[in-house]
Amino acid sequence: MVEHQLAGRGIRAPRVLQAMATLRRELFVPAHAAASAYEDRPLPIGAGQTISQPFVVARMLAALELTGTERVLEVGTGSGYVAALLAMLAREVFTIERHAQLARTAAEHLARSGFPQVHVRRGDGTLGWPEHAPFDAILVSAGGPRVPPALRSQLAAPGRLVMPVGEDQGSQTLLCQQRLMNGWRERALGSVVFVPLVGAQGWSG
Ligand code: SAH
Repeated sequence: MVEHQLAGRGIRAPRVLQAMATLRRELFVPAHAAASAYEDRPLPIGAGQTISQPFVVARMLAALELTGTERVLEVGTGSGYVAALLAMLAREVFTIERHAQLARTAAEHLARSGFPQVHVRRGDGTLGWPEHAPFDAILVSAGGPRVPPALRSQLAAPGRLVMPVGEDQGSQTLLCQQRLMNGWRERALGSVVFVPLVGAQGWSG
């Protein structure tokens, strides 16, 4: 997976490639999908949601340029796969999931797999997690109509936020917004398809 789908397509970030080569993706998908865990596509994880394609995960993680010292917010815990990768690349991870069952399963799984530095909460991630802000990096794992203002305000300076943004729920552009000491910079990382970000500062349903 790492050699063909990631390095072969231009992902160079060595820490990201190392983490993705180490973490077993099959442990985060339901038993019936385990045989497909390393395929080049998203996979169902229950509640109508999906674990993202490895290449897209790698691009998002690479764009954050984590060094190991950061506190990170993730919106859309899903299976917990990306949260575990973030934990390998940063210091502490706060992750929010809207579906109670997914949040519970991911929290149990992460604790059992040895990731005590990941904190999982059920809730509306479009509002962020103000009690633990500011965050050095924010990764949004679902697609919304715009970057939620609450998340922008909870990003540290310097800091980086990666999120799929699109005018309809069917497709998005992956954006990397960088908060600098004196303003913002934005860069587009290509077209992607994510499940919708549903919440007060996302889609209404
Ligand atoms: N990163 C996940 C991918 C999950 S898919 C993984 O590694 O498996 C996106 C997730 O975002 C879904 O589980 C969905 O329920 C969740 N989601 C959608 N809107 C949300 C919101 N407002 N707050 C928190 N989670 C949300």
